[in-house]
Amino acid sequence: MNVLANDGISQSGIDKLQKSGFNVITTNVPQENLIDYINKEGVVALLVRSATKVRKDIIDNCPTLKFIGRGGVGMDNIDVEYAREKGLTVSNTPAASSQSVAELVMTQMFSISRFTFNANKEMPNNGHTEFKKLKKKYSKGVELRGKTLGIIGFGRIGQSLAKYAIGCGMNVIAYDKFDFNNTITLTFANGSTVDVAVEKSDLNNLLSNSDFISIHVPMQEDGSAVITEKEIGLMKDNVRIINAARGGVINENALLKGLNNGKIAYAALDVFDNEPAPRADVLSNEKIASTPHIGAATVEAQDRIGLELADHIINCFS
Ligand code: NAD
Repeated sequence: MNVLANDGISQSGIDKLQKSGFNVITTNVPQENLIDYINKEGVVALLVRSATKVRKDIIDNCPTLKFIGRGGVGMDNIDVEYAREKGLTVSNTPAASSQSVAELVMTQMFSISRFTFNANKEMPNNGHTEFKKLKKKYSKGVELRGKTLGIIGFGRIGQSLAKYAIGCGMNVIAYDKFDFNNTITLTFANGSTVDVAVEKSDLNNLLSNSDFISIHVPMQEDGSAVITEKEIGLMKDNVRIINAARGGVINENALLKGLNNGKIAYAALDVFDNEPAPRADVLSNEKIASTPHIGAATVEAQDRIGLELADHIINCFS
């Protein structure tokens, strides 16, 4: 049986599927050719990340297809309900990448606090002639310890991030649209654990008291932004904002306005409106540290995702 991993799959996932008799195809078939390819190869399971879209056209026109798997969390690139109505199995790997996304957010928080995202770019070209100038330019860094991190959306990634931030001595406050358990368990390398309570907050309190704000909500059902000009207006001056959730969760015009008028000190973005072609003025803004949607892109997360998807497929066809 043919499995098409159109956005890739880890070698561990391929090995597991092959051991169970599946043939795994890792060719990246362009979106417009997918229906023909699936039908020609008799693909029974289609695996995607965020790039490939699985809409009604594919679901309606590919009778061999029985399983759609999303390596990762958000399934906004798949018509999930429609596929299930048509009898297909649709599954994702919600917990596999939380740790990796949280670690990326930590790197971004450090980066926009010490300007490494800009200094790393300038040093290779100008470091040998303008060392003292650059030293001065990047000398007003801030520490994370003692700062307040507001986490909007306290699900798997929000909680994972809270553990790292608490470890750095940050004061963490969290807001979620649903009530949540605010006790998180820190697990150390030797296996010992400590329970810590995170402060629950409403949105306005979080916005007006946080030095750093990181957003971990899914794309909203109506596509609306959670952070608009109104919310930015309530934030502390010189706030630093991180979005590794989904493009559109922060209104990019409002973000640029807040950066340009000095309300927001810096922002870090892993996700953008209109991926894979984000706005040039967002990418080139000197106060924005950007990464190309790599939150879940670690060897460890991809291994967990591949193995988990392999299990789902094996169960589906056994
Ligand atoms: P999750 O479902 O565990 O948590 C999301 C939380 O957000 C939930 O508790 C939910 O109640 C809350 N929420 C939803 N709308 C809200 C709102 N308007 N205000 C406040 N809270 C709200 O999801 P997760 O695993 O933590 O992932 C969060 C998001 O991160 C995903 O949906 C995905 O879009 C994104 N993500 C990005 C990457 C990446 O590569 N950058 C990787 C994985 C996930």
